[in-house]
Amino acid sequence: MRTAETSYVPRAVAPAALAALRVVDDAGRPCVPHEATGGGEPLRCCLRPAAPGERIALVSYAPLRRWAAETGAEPGAYDEQGPVFVHAAECGGPAPSEEYPFARPGALRALRRYDAEGRIVGGRLLELPEVPAEGFDRALAEAFADPAVVLVHVRAVEYGCFHFEVRRP
Ligand SMILES: [Zn+2]
Repeated sequence: MRTAETSYVPRAVAPAALAALRVVDDAGRPCVPHEATGGGEPLRCCLRPAAPGERIALVSYAPLRRWAAETGAEPGAYDEQGPVFVHAAECGGPAPSEEYPFARPGALRALRRYDAEGRIVGGRLLELPEVPAEGFDRALAEAFADPAVVLVHVRAVEYGCFHFEVRRP
């Protein structure tokens, strides 16, 4: 469980971005739906693993570019894109949860910090502890203790893939 004082909100890919990605992804490739294999593909639209048989797609997503389009930031060369799984058709998005998604003790995460211009201003490696939410809470508090930090990307270390973003509360 996340602690009562937690105000960090893991953000899924936004509905408008999802609608676009389901046609052409952020690398300009057409979306190709397929059936989930049962491997628990992490869905960045719903922040949960896919169930076997669900229609999903692997698309290239540019989280910083999408954020910058909302905020007017100009990340320039810091813009990057990578593969994420999403539902192939419109979905309800994440169910309300007190938990951080894709969290299990021992998992390795990179937390990359960005300033209001979309420039990287630091980061850290996080090994999720026995109570993963405590590790996330601490690492995010540490990130936002720097007044320059407005945005944190959480990524899997082994694959480098984007899991979710957290904005300054
Ligand atoms: Zn979904």
